[in-house]
Amino acid sequence: MTNATDLTLGRRVMAMIEELAQHTDEPGRLTRLYLSDAHRRAADATLRLMQEAGLNAHIDALGSVIGRVEGANPEAPALLIGSHIDSVVDAGRYDGNLGVVLGIVVVEALKQQGIAPACPIEIVAFGDEENVRFPTNLSTSQALAGRFNPAWLDGRDQDGVSFRDALIRFGGDPGGAAALARDPARYRGYLEVHIEQGPLLEAKRLPVGIVSAINGITRARASVIGEAGHAGTVPMNMRRDALAAVAEMIGIVERAGSTRTDTVATVGAAQVQPGAINVIPARVDFTLDARSPDDAVRLAMVQDIVTECQAAAQRRNVSFTIEPFMESPATPMDKDLIAWLEEAVRSLGIEPLHLSSGAGHDAVAMANLCPSAMLFVRCKDGISHNPAESITTEDVDVAARVLIDAVKRIAA
Ligand SMILES: [Zn+2]
Repeated sequence: MTNATDLTLGRRVMAMIEELAQHTDEPGRLTRLYLSDAHRRAADATLRLMQEAGLNAHIDALGSVIGRVEGANPEAPALLIGSHIDSVVDAGRYDGNLGVVLGIVVVEALKQQGIAPACPIEIVAFGDEENVRFPTNLSTSQALAGRFNPAWLDGRDQDGVSFRDALIRFGGDPGGAAALARDPARYRGYLEVHIEQGPLLEAKRLPVGIVSAINGITRARASVIGEAGHAGTVPMNMRRDALAAVAEMIGIVERAGSTRTDTVATVGAAQVQPGAINVIPARVDFTLDARSPDDAVRLAMVQDIVTECQAAAQRRNVSFTIEPFMESPATPMDKDLIAWLEEAVRSLGIEPLHLSSGAGHDAVAMANLCPSAMLFVRCKDGISHNPAESITTEDVDVAARVLIDAVKRIAA
């Protein structure tokens, strides 16, 4: 299906990922939270890899590593390529790191091929994508888009350490965030390669796929209040069982997510009160997470869930309240960049598959700065955020060749 290759690029990427994977805050497993000691070491290692590839690199005020190679026309708007090097607790080694390392390898390859890109290329390793340590949202990439929220600096991690103090300890500059904002006119696009974190490419037997949009998300908290009673003495037809009502509601949520195209809807957490084996549940609090690449579809889905849950509550004589606490719109990827990626994928004899991203990415923030697009790489069993995260050298090699080809077309 793909052109024969000696996998040089894939091996080079895998070697760099191995090197970054050594930097962890917890021996024996990979944990690299934003602004931790391991993040600092990984940032320094990334800086060195960029410099060895001939990039003019530095670590910015918020800890992102940024390397730039000038183009034949230094005044042309630059092409950004990147992802993140922070991780969740007990993470896999490819999430984020893959997109950063691929950017570096692209610059190396262009240099080896004696190709000077027409426009400048910047490689970025963001630091705060996973949203694990501080109550932020893509703070390091939003900073480039001019959307850093200064209130984030007062947020604290679970040990009580503030973002501000952690940043100073890291060697960053809390006062420097605003100045990181880039001029949109100076950037022609952002490309991010990332593991799929889902099973679609594997099912379609494809090494890579092109992201059409990053899903919008609605998150809500819901409560159902019934009445407690003795599990042995209250007849079934006289009960107001809050958990039985929620069981029906979970079915409603599951159906709402299943019956539409590209949507997902999940009840991920529920607390039952009083929560005893011999007491009819009086109250259940549960969460809703609903996603779609199309905002109108998502909002209609959530409305249907609310209406049907209200009807179920009424039938069962329990009260039902629901309160959305997060509405994040979908981020469509840029049509022109998608077309370039399509051509690059097709040039390797691979059918370009378009898929939406169920997870958020730095590209959501970067789309506020400039046209953005993403390429997904097949990962084993769709597993991520887990040490079992796995991709093949062959697929990485394909991704590298697609990215090089796309960069040649875009930066021509
Ligand atoms: Zn990621």
